[in-house]
Amino acid sequence: MKQILVISGKGGTGKTTLVAGFASLAQNAIMADCDVDAPDLHIILKPEILEEIPFYALKIPVKDESKCIECGKCREVCRFNAIDENFKINELKCEGCAACAFVCPANAIEMIDREAGKIYISKTRFGPFIHAQLNIGEEASGKLVTEVKRKAKELAESKNKGLVLIDGSPGIGCPVIASLSGVDLAVIVTEPTVSGIHDLERILGVTKHFGIKTVVCVNKFDINEKKTSEIENFCNENEINLIGKIPYDSSATKAMIELKTVIEFSSSQVGEEVKKIWLKVLEIL
Ligand code: SF4
Ligand code: SF4
Repeated sequence: MKQILVISGKGGTGKTTLVAGFASLAQNAIMADCDVDAPDLHIILKPEILEEIPFYALKIPVKDESKCIECGKCREVCRFNAIDENFKINELKCEGCAACAFVCPANAIEMIDREAGKIYISKTRFGPFIHAQLNIGEEASGKLVTEVKRKAKELAESKNKGLVLIDGSPGIGCPVIASLSGVDLAVIVTEPTVSGIHDLERILGVTKHFGIKTVVCVNKFDINEKKTSEIENFCNENEINLIGKIPYDSSATKAMIELKTVIEFSSSQVGEEVKKIWLKVLEIL
């Protein structure tokens, strides 16, 4: 079983358009949305949720008031000022370190699981889809990405699927690093702007660090052909395979509005280029 991850240096580069296009071209694949902070692949894939799994991140302390002898030891030990003068625990400040439970002489504090979001196993017109949603204010996105990938891999093995196609997070933070683990190929989507090139260099640094085979494609290459040439030169100099250049075409937006992939939408240059890129991805894989 192989895993392909599509990432970008920042949001809005057309990453989801490419992943959704790949989803409609892939045979025997499981799709996974690891962009858990701002998931949007579900908008095009229109999943029917089959199973909902709670996701637990940190444990939080819960106090049994009837046991508390108001000694104040928990407040003294808490380094995050999460316990007030009345020894009430403020969940929003709590970091789940469990020191308060450890020092409480009355065993009044118990650490319990806190639900931080949900993982969904769904079916779509292109096959099974694993996606997730973090609760507002939760920060455990790296851990959730790892869980989504683990579920996708588990499902791929149980359903005898040969491929997991992953929509990654933009940027170079913790969720991206979590999504890179164990993938066979990273496809970076970039665009021909000053920040696009800068972001590309940064994210290539990350994939190189983790020794992940990486290819690049440029979206909307014709909005700035000079910058596109700079990207091509950069890729040549660094022996990075630039596998495709997608033109700017309103069909990508129109397809999105109709909740279709660019492949399903009436034939367009974008769709044709995505098909070519997909064939190259399969070849490289
Ligand atoms: S678990 Fe740690 S951070 Fe949370 S209230 Fe207890 S001591 Fe403070
Ligand atoms: S350490 Fe335990 S007994 Fe003491 S104030 Fe905190 S909860 Fe109450």
